[in-house]
Amino acid sequence: MRLVLLGAPGSGKGTQAARLKTALGVPHISTGDMLRAAVAAGTAMGLKAKAVMEAGQLVSDDILLGMLEERLAQDDARAGFILDGYPRNLAQADALDQLLLKIGQPLDAVIKLEVPNAAIIGRCEIRFKAEGRADDNPDTVRKRLAIYAEQTAPVADFYARRGKLQVVDGVGELDQITARIRHALQRKPAVTD
Ligand code: AMP
Repeated sequence: MRLVLLGAPGSGKGTQAARLKTALGVPHISTGDMLRAAVAAGTAMGLKAKAVMEAGQLVSDDILLGMLEERLAQDDARAGFILDGYPRNLAQADALDQLLLKIGQPLDAVIKLEVPNAAIIGRCEIRFKAEGRADDNPDTVRKRLAIYAEQTAPVADFYARRGKLQVVDGVGELDQITARIRHALQRKPAVTD
């Protein structure tokens, strides 16, 4: 299974991907986690990304594509993957299409988790207190939501036009949301123009 999880920051992509990976038998690839690991390790890429991430902005497409290409070349991704946090704009969606074409691994499905902004802001506040992620402070979350609306929301339409998108309600108990995603993965999505 080759799956992309779309959704605003705090919509539950990471939580749901961690639950789905065992059931689907594929790795959870989070570009945010990979970048945070690079920042923590103090690599050259991490040093470049740190300030951009703390400001709630997007790290450059080139860095992301290189990082993703390397990750997808690893053995465990041969069986498929759950991609969380990529693509975040139309250029990345195009680049992903081309990369997957090149490695002969087209996407099977794209799930978008739908959560109202008010709930997102509340969830990120809780995560900010629990984990202390600088980009979860309320002002930065608002910025990240604006970037999501402007740059990432069109990615859902990109996949809807290709007949890959399923929209899932991301509000409720975790088990309920996981069940909704698994159910959606069994359905055939509609193609929109
Ligand atoms: P996330 O954990 O997915 O919310 O990502 C945390 C931060 O990492 C984002 O706010 C961006 O600064 C950066 N990031 C993660 N994925 C991407 C991406 N696909 N493109 C650009 N920046 C990204």
